[in-house]
Amino acid sequence: MEDLPKRKISTALWRGAWGYCPQCNEGRLFSAYLKAYEHCSHCDLHLAGHKADDAPPYFTMFIVGHIIVPLAVVIEHAYVPPIYIHVIFFSVLTIVLSLIILPIVKGAVIAMQWALRMHGFAASPTDAHKSETDI
Ligand SMILES: [Zn+2]
Repeated sequence: MEDLPKRKISTALWRGAWGYCPQCNEGRLFSAYLKAYEHCSHCDLHLAGHKADDAPPYFTMFIVGHIIVPLAVVIEHAYVPPIYIHVIFFSVLTIVLSLIILPIVKGAVIAMQWALRMHGFAASPTDAHKSETDI
């Protein structure tokens, strides 16, 4: 494992967050909203080895909560709207933000696992013909 070249985490996170393969930045990461492809269509990286599990929803809730709560406090202090406005507006905003942020976070989590050679990315067969300058 020590002999394997390092992968740049920030580059991988950026590519994954935009939904592209963390290795080649050409192939798409997801075949559906949150379903990762088995293999990258461009570099054949085995993407099914990821174990994102509950990390993307956890990080998404963390991010959305840190947006919604301060915004609710600011709006309450500035405008003092009735409670039903809070309930309707912030429920919809929370759902929409979560749906937008979740695939971004999942892509970043998969890319981070690839960059750190975690789980199914421990020894990618494509490492043999892929130099780290391509990353
Ligand atoms: Zn690829």
